[in-house]
Amino acid sequence: MLTHPHDAEIFDLTIIGGGPTGLFACYYAGLRQMKTKIIDSLPQLGGQLMALYPEKYIFDMPGFPKVLAKQLALDLEMQALQYGATICLDETVRHLRPGAVIELETDKGVHFTRTVLIAAGVGAFTPKRLPAPTAAAYEGRGLAYTILNKEIYRDQRVLIVGGGDSAVDWALNLEPIAARVTLVHRRDGFRAHEESVEKLKNSSCRVKVFYELREVCGAEWVDSAIVYNNKTKEEERLRVDAILPQLGFNASLGPIKDWGLETSGSSIVVNPRMESSINGVYAAGDIADYPGKLKLIATGTADATVAVNFAKQHIDPTANVFPGHSSEIVPSGKDRAGRA
Ligand code: FAD
Repeated sequence: MLTHPHDAEIFDLTIIGGGPTGLFACYYAGLRQMKTKIIDSLPQLGGQLMALYPEKYIFDMPGFPKVLAKQLALDLEMQALQYGATICLDETVRHLRPGAVIELETDKGVHFTRTVLIAAGVGAFTPKRLPAPTAAAYEGRGLAYTILNKEIYRDQRVLIVGGGDSAVDWALNLEPIAARVTLVHRRDGFRAHEESVEKLKNSSCRVKVFYELREVCGAEWVDSAIVYNNKTKEEERLRVDAILPQLGFNASLGPIKDWGLETSGSSIVVNPRMESSINGVYAAGDIADYPGKLKLIATGTADATVAVNFAKQHIDPTANVFPGHSSEIVPSGKDRAGRA
């Protein structure tokens, strides 16, 4: 057990995970004048929206007939940060030690907090990597598992590997701007929406089924890929500028499983106040489990609202749980441009 250094900053609420749930929780914590921190293992905020599908439209946000995932993430971020929360990115929480002051040990240090909200989604996730031994050396040099900005592929020859929704959607998304899109998939059956597969077949994308990637080539940067037909074993060299493997993600609760929380499968069991089995530790969003739970953004943000307002009362028993109506509260924080 680490002893709490007296000069270390103690936060009211530390949120593990900066996805939509964590970001909305951060907004509410600011509104409730809680000293708040977010820790996320990814290099950017936004969770699955930024890591898995930034260029996809979301159609089920209240009040938004359609919104790009990355735009929603940016707006959530702007809303969340207006009260000046502390943000720690590229940092993974490894241990949680309960107490009146809870300790969170990360790969970079120790954080002290009165309450914790675990909004860790499906856990820290990492993309499934290509088995080709030459692939790793080209990551960041033409080979990318995450597509943050499709514009960088304008006029490029792009190779997509995979047969799921992400692979098919990215092929269709990049087709209008790339010089050429080739998709290789090791089977002839796709795990993507039938409608998308149909669109792919009718598009100008070159689709090569029963093909796998054997080798990535290039001096400094990717300039070609060697693919082979897994039926005929014939090899072929494709001239490409970018390789975008879309093989899915490995997600695991990882260290969270060892924190002594009551879990159900890969989720944390919570009561109607979003409290976990550890005093002062709440869970919300995809990671929370309760009867009737749906893993959606709208329900995650609702979970966050409940969790934060109960966390407020946990710290200050004289505080109301009900936050009041935001429309009647004059924000005391400043926006990102520093305007009061
Ligand atoms: P996440 O978005 O998963 O964020 C969790 C964050 O926690 C991650 O950033 C992760 O890095 C971090 N983290 C995890 N463990 C740790 C740790 N130990 N230390 C530090 N950080 C950690 N939902 C909808 O409502 N509408 C849609 O149209 C929709 N479309 C989707 C399309 C796709 C392709 C996918 C994959 C999902 C879609 N979803 C949709 C689901 C939606 O994205 C999730 O419900 C939502 O992202 C959950 O938010 P969250 O904040 O709970 O978790």
